[in-house]
Amino acid sequence: MNNIFMLPITFHLDKMDIIIYPTLLKDDNELILIDCGYPDSVPKLDKEMNKIGLSLNQLTKIIITHHDHDHMGALREIKESYPAVEILCSKIEAPYITGQRDSLRLQQAKEIQEKLPESEKEGGMQFQKFIASIQKVGIDEVSIINNGDILPFCGGIEVIDTKGHMPGHISLYLKEAKTLIAGDALVVENEELCMAMPQFILNVQDAQDSILKLLNYDIEKIICYHGGLYNSDVKKSLKELVSNF
Ligand SMILES: [Zn+2]
Repeated sequence: MNNIFMLPITFHLDKMDIIIYPTLLKDDNELILIDCGYPDSVPKLDKEMNKIGLSLNQLTKIIITHHDHDHMGALREIKESYPAVEILCSKIEAPYITGQRDSLRLQQAKEIQEKLPESEKEGGMQFQKFIASIQKVGIDEVSIINNGDILPFCGGIEVIDTKGHMPGHISLYLKEAKTLIAGDALVVENEELCMAMPQFILNVQDAQDSILKLLNYDIEKIICYHGGLYNSDVKKSLKELVSNF
């Protein structure tokens, strides 16, 4: 039996508390973290892991669903502290995670900066600064995983290309547990399954096609990075979502 643990991490931003859900997968040989939170997340992750009798120094792999700051913010610090940890991501996301290319979120923020109302310009600049400050990892420190790969850990982890929110975004399907770790392909808001906020989706058509694709999977539980666990009639909820496109 595989173990799946959500690690709720709270981040304080603009007087708001944001809760995100990195997920931990465990089998006899591997301890795999999926996405790793904001830059200040290391002690928070360790604290959550301690609660279930684990700690960050046991980590063997990190899978990054995409290069947004709240998903890879703590990556460099973890890699520096625990160099043996292997980092896995899609081929498209890799150059952003290693800093070979500028973050797409930063490019997007720069593009909309001019159009922001005067009252929001300073906030826009701060957001840009924050994104630019996210530390990257080395080019030789990431391993590529591809759509359709079944990673031979935790009973088999299928990599699903769920582009849209970002072009190389992946979700992970745990066949044995019939559980999808959706990253930002889906979010839970007010107990409803939704798409990520449209302003954060870089290609809406792709994002919709990705959700359509998820209908082919036997999913009983979805773990969303924003909103956490969703397990009430997943197929019906996905169909409803699709019918509103
Ligand atoms: Zn994101």
